[in-house]
Order: sequence, then C-alpha cells, then structure tokens
Amino acid sequence: MSGSWPMVVFDLLVVVGLVAAAKAVSDTMSVGAGWVWFLLLSASFVFCFVAVPLRVLLVRQQQSIMRQTSEARRQASTDPLTGLPNRRSTEGFVADLLAEGIPFTVAVCDLDHFKNVNDGFGHDVGDSALVLFARTVRRVVRHTDIVVRHGGEEFLVILPRTFKDQAVGVLDRVRLELAVAVADTGSPAYTFSAGVADTTERSDWTALLQVADQRLLHAKRLGRDRVLASIA
Ligand code: GH3
Ligand code: MG
Ligand code: MG
Repeated sequence: MSGSWPMVVFDLLVVVGLVAAAKAVSDTMSVGAGWVWFLLLSASFVFCFVAVPLRVLLVRQQQSIMRQTSEARRQASTDPLTGLPNRRSTEGFVADLLAEGIPFTVAVCDLDHFKNVNDGFGHDVGDSALVLFARTVRRVVRHTDIVVRHGGEEFLVILPRTFKDQAVGVLDRVRLELAVAVADTGSPAYTFSAGVADTTERSDWTALLQVADQRLLHAKRLGRDRVLASIA
C-alpha cells in the first residue's frame, strides 16, 4: 500500500518533466517544434488529469481493502462479547513465546456454577457477568499478560516470564478483585476456579494445557473458588 505512493510521486515528476520539456521547446520554437510542443503539452494534460487521479484512486482503493482485511482478521480473532482474543488466537501467542524461548505460566480459569447465574438471572445477566470477569482479569494482570476467552465461561491467562507460584498470587488477587467488582456492580455473586502450570513442568503446549486442566478439575472437586498449581 505505502509502496504505491512513490508511484504517484513518480507520476507527478513525469508531469513536471513534460511541462518543463514543453516550455523548453516553446522557448526555441520553430514551425516543426510547434507540433512537438503541442504533443508534449497534450501528454502533460493527459497525465495530470487522467493518469495521476487514476493512480490516486487506485492507492485509495488498495488502502481501503487493506483496512477491511485487517479489520476482518481482527474480528475473526476477537470474542465479540468480552473483546478479548478468542481461542483461535491462542496458538499464535503460544507459538511466539515458545519460538523465543520465553518461559511462561498458563492458568485455565472456569467460572463456578455459572449455569446457576444463567438459570437464576437470565442469559443477559450471565453475559454481563462474563464481561465483568474479563474486565477484572485484564485490570489485575500486566499488559504483557495474555487473557483469552477460551470458550463459554472458560478463560486462559498466559503470563510470560512468570513461574506458577507467582501466577497463583496474581490469580488470587483476581479472585479478591472479582468479589469486590461483583459487590460494586450488584452482579449476582459468582467465583472462579483455576488450574495453573508452567513451562518448567511441560515444554509442549498441549501437555501443559492438560496439566493445568487436571488441576482445574481438582480445584472444582475440592469445592471451587480456588487456584491450584499442584495436586497434593
Ligand atoms: P462448574 O462450576 O462445574 O464449571 O459449573 P458450571 O455451571 O459453570 O458449568 P457448566 O458447564 O455446567 O455450565 C456452563 C454454563 O456457562 C452453561 C452455559 O450456558 C454458560 N455459558 C457459556 N457461554 C456463555 C455465554 O456466552 N453467555 C452466557 N450467559 N452463558 C454462557
Ligand atoms: Mg463453569
Ligand atoms: Mg466450563
């Protein structure tokens, strides 16, 4: 796209060149040179009023297509309800971290008894509770941490350069902040459970996610509203 603007500048330079040539010819004009002068001036005219505007139009169209493509790509990787990246984006984030050899922790978070929120208060209130959770996590974690809506009422938090014990501290702060946010907004009360694992335990993404999932399951079995980084 930006590569097209030099072409517009090139067109303008051609116009300036043609006009300058026409002027030079007219300065030394003989009868035969009159035709050359006429042709050069006509060419300048065509360039100025046809070629350059067409080129500008083309550049604008290219820019518009690029903008639409990048917006479509953004929408395809964003969850419309919470505005968080969706599951599709996760592999890209993880691939970048693994390729750069950056250690990280993943936390699989699942809202507790969320079906009860929907059943008791309606789907719209459930949606608002999901948005509140997303906002609360985003507010507590660092801007370099990645929060993904993995699906339904399940979220992933990926914390680069963080080991699981530190991540548990962060997630526990999210638990406290969520309780405050729930009280402040008058949302029906709900909590979440999380299972946490880091890359010192598994270097393979699928295996790492599996370990975190098992810990989440155990957190649910133990009574929910907790963050587990091991199964004792
Ligand atoms: P658990 O503590 O075992 O996770 O119980 P749960 O009720 O949270 O789990 P379950 O899988 O039984 O129910 C998940 C609920 O999450 C049911 C589903 O309707 C709700 N849910 C998933 N996605 C959305 C959504 O986008 N909006 C709303 N309002 N609810 C959703
Ligand atoms: Mg749940
Ligand atoms: Mg679930």
